[in-house]
Amino acid sequence: MSNILDKISEVPQRLIAPIIAPKTPPTLILGGGFTGLFTALHLSRLHYTNPTILIDREWSFIFKPLLYEVLSGEMNMQFICHRYDSLLHKSGITFIRDEVQSIDLQHRQVHLASGLHYTYSNLVLSLGGVVSYFGIKGAKEYTTPFATIEDTIALGKQLRDCLQRATQSEELQQKKTLLTFAILGAGRTGVELAATLADLLPDWYDSLGGDITNIRVVLIQRGKKILKGDSDRLRQTAEDALQKRSVSVEVMLETEVVEVRSNIIVIKRNDKKEELAAATIVWTAGIVTNPLTDTLSIPEGGRDRQGRLKLTDTLELIDFPEVFAGGDCAVMEHPLPLTAQVAYQQGAAIAHNLQALSEGHSPIAVEIEMRGTLMKLGLNESVAELFDRYEVQGHLGHLIRQAAYIELLPTLARNFKGTIEWISDELFQRCAGV
Ligand SMILES: Cc1cc2nc3c(=O)[nH]c(=O)nc-3n(C[C@H](O)[C@H](O)[C@H](O)COP(=O)(O)OP(=O)(O)OC[C@H]3O[C@@H](n4cnc5c(N)ncnc54)[C@H](O)[C@@H]3O)c2cc1C
Repeated sequence: MSNILDKISEVPQRLIAPIIAPKTPPTLILGGGFTGLFTALHLSRLHYTNPTILIDREWSFIFKPLLYEVLSGEMNMQFICHRYDSLLHKSGITFIRDEVQSIDLQHRQVHLASGLHYTYSNLVLSLGGVVSYFGIKGAKEYTTPFATIEDTIALGKQLRDCLQRATQSEELQQKKTLLTFAILGAGRTGVELAATLADLLPDWYDSLGGDITNIRVVLIQRGKKILKGDSDRLRQTAEDALQKRSVSVEVMLETEVVEVRSNIIVIKRNDKKEELAAATIVWTAGIVTNPLTDTLSIPEGGRDRQGRLKLTDTLELIDFPEVFAGGDCAVMEHPLPLTAQVAYQQGAAIAHNLQALSEGHSPIAVEIEMRGTLMKLGLNESVAELFDRYEVQGHLGHLIRQAAYIELLPTLARNFKGTIEWISDELFQRCAGV
């Protein structure tokens, strides 16, 4: 022992100053939607030891598939909005509410609107998408989007306002305009919203003493069919459901929106331009990748045609193995639908690969299971298409959809026995056995 001490005393003083391990740069998760939040929750569950920071510009996570329920009043807002700080309480993950302003992949730096900046060891890009108006004149100014909780509250107010004003309107054309509700875009969001409104509006209007036969819900689609990309069976079920609502949804196919003005949609069909007067015009026609991902300096070929970031099968960026991505801003070799189902599975897989890296192992290839499609097709009515084999409609479909989403809510998932295992084992396998 004395020998060692002697040796140490010979070492020049500046070399025996306490050795401070360099602070490990944190793992940063940008965006706390389905991908980002579920990455964080899974990292916590795996006891990931690297310091981790989740950054989102909002205070709360929003469970978007249930926005229709908030609009209709079937569910309280508190049920689908969860503050990040309470979701991540005691999880070991730090939450920062801030806007990501720039990302420098070459220098591993992220700059925030507040002026804070971070150097990272690993990065998770989970910034989702933004609404796109495809340059259609007036679309941004005169339509209401339906993608956030703020949009949902604004739309709810607008709907009630139109119905109330209609009850007092003496002028026929004005009343018609107030009672015409147009939805632009017949993808899943447009169809679910149209079906919900076609039950909800008559219900509300009836309680105001209005004549529900005056209500029009119009769904406008540029292409030849609704739900492009979904199965024919699901499309048929949705088409039938749209006709069977309290008021039938008028579906206009092969109809192009040329321009939107205040209370007017200019449409083109059969090469003819027409004007449709509607006081409520909802835009559900397009989501494009978050503009921040466009600014990333990545080699040519690193994005698909929609600008989504191309990933390896381990969910890393092709030229930046320390950077993972998932959800609506990214694309795997075999493109998957832009859904919460894909995003949260990718979040879980990213967490496992980050953990593997931290333990000195290689990340593993990720397989996403497409377990089914759940769609709301009216009040208390849904369709659950499971494993492309079984379809459950109506009220039972509604119960399956509610149960699947309620079990996925992150407040429950936090204490989970594995969100993914949970949903597959307890819900889908049981249904498949029905
Ligand atoms: C109305 C509606 C209904 C839907 N219904 C369904 C459904 O029934 N089933 C289904 O599977 N999918 C549904 N989806 C799709 C699903 O919600 C998305 O596919 C999913 O949210 C994508 O997850 P994500 O993590 O990629 O992005 P998001 O969940 O969009 O999360 C992105 C996060 O990044 C944050 N962010 C963005 N930019 C910045 C920035 N610059 N700085 C800081 N933070 C930022 C945002 O605040 C957000 O929290 C629906 C979507 C909508 C809009």
